[in-house]
Amino acid sequence: MKIALPTSTDAVHAGSREDRPDHTLAPSIAQTASYTFADSADLERYLAGDDPNPERQEYGRYGNPTVREVEQRIAALDGAEDALLFGSGMAAITTAVLAFVKSGEHVILFRDAYRRTRQFITTNLARLGVEHTLVETSDLDAFERAITPKTRLAITEFPTNPYLRCVDLWKFAAICREARVKSLVDATFSTPYNAQPLAQGVDVVIHSATKYLSGHNDVLGGSVAGSALLISLVRELRDVLGGICDPHAAALIGRGMKTLALRVERQNATGLAVARALEVQQGVDRVYYPGLPSHPDHASARSQLRGGGGVVSFVVHGGREGARRVVDAFRLATIAPSLGGVESLVEQPSLMSYSELSPEELAEHGIVPGLIRLSVGIEETEDVLADVKQAIAALHV
Ligand SMILES: *Cc1c(COP(=O)(O)O)cnc(C)c1O
Repeated sequence: MKIALPTSTDAVHAGSREDRPDHTLAPSIAQTASYTFADSADLERYLAGDDPNPERQEYGRYGNPTVREVEQRIAALDGAEDALLFGSGMAAITTAVLAFVKSGEHVILFRDAYRRTRQFITTNLARLGVEHTLVETSDLDAFERAITPKTRLAITEFPTNPYLRCVDLWKFAAICREARVKSLVDATFSTPYNAQPLAQGVDVVIHSATKYLSGHNDVLGGSVAGSALLISLVRELRDVLGGICDPHAAALIGRGMKTLALRVERQNATGLAVARALEVQQGVDRVYYPGLPSHPDHASARSQLRGGGGVVSFVVHGGREGARRVVDAFRLATIAPSLGGVESLVEQPSLMSYSELSPEELAEHGIVPGLIRLSVGIEETEDVLADVKQAIAALHV
């Protein structure tokens, strides 16, 4: 089945308002905590849902016109009826999960997941009486077996972090629908430019807008997109929990999104070039990139992704010490967590993202000591390649 993907034109124009106050070309930042009412009758019209100013909210926690415009662009790019913007990816994920499950119910999460998502499901949510099962990433048979009559929600990332596994979202969504389980995909790594989980039958798609959507490593944000009905449930809880995005941050995210297609196109190309180069490089044991035929989910990635994205994970000789030498030798790429921005970033997952885990726990999550995760930016592909090659050369000195 063919998936219709958004274009660069969509990234620039989709969901833009045509009725901006004062005819400004760029959206102005509505830096306000509250909204005014002319008189009690005006307030009564608002409360009756009959407000002539559709962007007016009673209070800033419930909505903001700058935020709303970005939400509409995200909804358009994700192919959703509606979307919500939050102050971080984790605010988006936790609010959505809490909106969909309650005590006594059960959630299934694929194991290869962002560690704070896993922490939330396995500790915070467990404390509220919501049970969970972690299943091996991409193993849909194990997933199906894990479904119980209490299961209400299933979560996967697409592709996953850090091994870039790509579950078959058509099958995942079909299994969920059959079992009346809501399906939620954290598509931070694929972006709406590379994949369209909702078009594949998934119920809800989430992005950490901190990564590719904003794209400049200068702002935190997160989005939840889906049907009007599901999004209304998440909105009710956002009004209570208060995780809405700040208008200034929303404006940065909206601006960043205008170049999403251009950036991700470059990152797809550089990611693939780097992965191919690493695969034949001495000192590299293993490369994980969905665009490589050697990746376990290559076929699945080809049918569901426009490109393999900007993250390449690889294992070098010499374990943690080898990885340390290579990471320290990068010149263009900076040591930092996060990914998806214009700058290339590199990290050693066993040290950075998973530093609190014991060696046994690292092994359980499959995080080997020699693992390096590179997030390529939008620098010239040749420059990133040269940086990777000279960094690997540090293994042999
Ligand atoms: C970064 C990230 C998150 C968390 O998003 P924040 O914006 O940092 O809160 C969630 N999921 C994935 C896949 C991520 O990469």
